Amino acid sequence: MNLILLGPPGAGKGTQAKRLADKYNIIQLSTGEMLRAAVKEGSEIGRKAKAAMDAGGLVSDEIVIGIIADRIDQPDCANGYILDGFPRTLAQAAALETLLAEKKREINAVINIKVDDDAMIERISGRYACAKCGAGYHDVYLKPAKAGVCDTCAGTEFTRRADDNPETVRSRLMAYYRETAPLIGFYFAKGKLRNVDGMATIDQVTREIEGVLAKI
Ligand code: AMP
Repeated sequence: MNLILLGPPGAGKGTQAKRLADKYNIIQLSTGEMLRAAVKEGSEIGRKAKAAMDAGGLVSDEIVIGIIADRIDQPDCANGYILDGFPRTLAQAAALETLLAEKKREINAVINIKVDDDAMIERISGRYACAKCGAGYHDVYLKPAKAGVCDTCAGTEFTRRADDNPETVRSRLMAYYRETAPLIGFYFAKGKLRNVDGMATIDQVTREIEGVLAKI
């Protein structure tokens, strides 16, 4: 099963993608996570991507399409994958169609996680992750059971993404509305779009997505 998770920054794409990957035994492919790893490594891709990421803009289509083209060819993707944060432009969506057509594969569904504009800012500005295992938390909505201790690995150090600050968030929202929101129409026209209510609790959103996937 090959899926796309669409939605603005802060919609919960990463959180839901991790849960779905576990449940359906498919691979989560987050271009944002891959780019952050490239920036950390200081690779050529990382150096090229850094300025756009710091400013809350989009990295070039060429770079992200190249990353995804290589990644979906890896053996661990044979059972399927969830694209989380890709495609983000119509050019990326078109390139993905071509890549999949060459392999005689297709996207089974595009899950569009809908959230209110005001909620996005609040969600993004409150989020952080365990520095050791990457488990995601939120100051208000998803606290660890014991304050300051990761539920998953008992780590005690946490990090916040550099681009999760109010100024950069506004640029990221702008990029979303300008470049990514048109994909909703693109996939609707292809009959692939499935909307879910991203304002519900994390568990409810997971259940709604599972219900949608049971019907495809
Ligand atoms: P994310 O973790 O999905 O919020 O992505 C973080 C940042 O990585 C974005 O703000 C962009 O700068 C960059 N990025 C991630 N995925 C893409 C993509 N498909 N196209 C362009 N830029 C991307």
